[in-house]
Amino acid sequence: MAPTVTRLAPSPTGHLHLGHAWSFLCTWALARTHGWSVRLRLEDLDASRASADARADALWCLQWLGVEWDGDPELQSEHVDRHHRAMQGLAARGLVFEAPHSRAQVRAAGEGAPGPSEANAPNEGDAVLRFPASLRPPPGDSWNFRNTACNHRFACPAGPRTIHDQLYGDRTLDPSMVWGDPLIWMKSGVPSYQLAVVVDDLAAGVTDVVRGEDLLDSAVLQSILIDALGGTRPRWWHLPLVVDDQGRRLAKRHDALSLRSLAAAGATPGRVRQLVRHWCGHVELCGESSPAELAGAVTPPGLRSLVAIKARLRVTPDIVHWLCHGP
Ligand code: GLU
Repeated sequence: MAPTVTRLAPSPTGHLHLGHAWSFLCTWALARTHGWSVRLRLEDLDASRASADARADALWCLQWLGVEWDGDPELQSEHVDRHHRAMQGLAARGLVFEAPHSRAQVRAAGEGAPGPSEANAPNEGDAVLRFPASLRPPPGDSWNFRNTACNHRFACPAGPRTIHDQLYGDRTLDPSMVWGDPLIWMKSGVPSYQLAVVVDDLAAGVTDVVRGEDLLDSAVLQSILIDALGGTRPRWWHLPLVVDDQGRRLAKRHDALSLRSLAAAGATPGRVRQLVRHWCGHVELCGESSPAELAGAVTPPGLRSLVAIKARLRVTPDIVHWLCHGP
């Protein structure tokens, strides 16, 4: 039987927070229970945001939490040759085109909509600009991948697509209505998130992708890229999101909920693991949890029942107080 492989894929652009702890502890626990191997990939392609400090923070956080991985961590930025080859394959099939259009030009085409960032979905703050097929260049010279210092887009087929998620079930959407033709290569000479994640997961033989539900729609787009590259779709496990006490997804603005700040204020990894068990419905908020106890508490049926009740995992001031000071 082919080995089963999952991955941890933090973007080292800020300090990891409780949302990452939830996601990475669940990934590790599922891997441990099912015998999957775990790869660590630092998604550092966004040179304007990635930093050495954030890289060190990510490694420190994972170790602090007791999350283990197999082999050496991989830096995504060291594999641009691999992304480049994938682009050449797509270009040979006539699926990519040069798109020097400015954001203003795309916006003027009248179809901008708020959504995930166009280049790098996990980053907040940028809105997706739907690139309509009407802006595609005519057949001919622009359908190539010769100038790597030019933005390139993927000619996304129109029509609804369905993927299956292990926790959320079937998800259907039409990526051409959300992204239009997504940006897959940036004039800075690196792939966008959507292409890089697919190429690197295929190269690592990733069979099981565990990550936050904010990327569930992206998985539909990614399934099209995987098919175009001739790869095999992984099993997707999207997890309910951790939110603050106002229901907002945790983000960089929540530095007080970063693992580094929490640890400095007295939080212990055993209590963070216990919080994950608590969210999984197993325990009251008291005591600590070992990695082995946590692994037993994170189960597919348990996670499915969180999805069924549309759970949002809320970090309240009481929880923060307990993490830092105990009962
Ligand atoms: N690097 C992405 C993030 O930190 C995760 C990408 C993925 O898991 O596909 O949000």
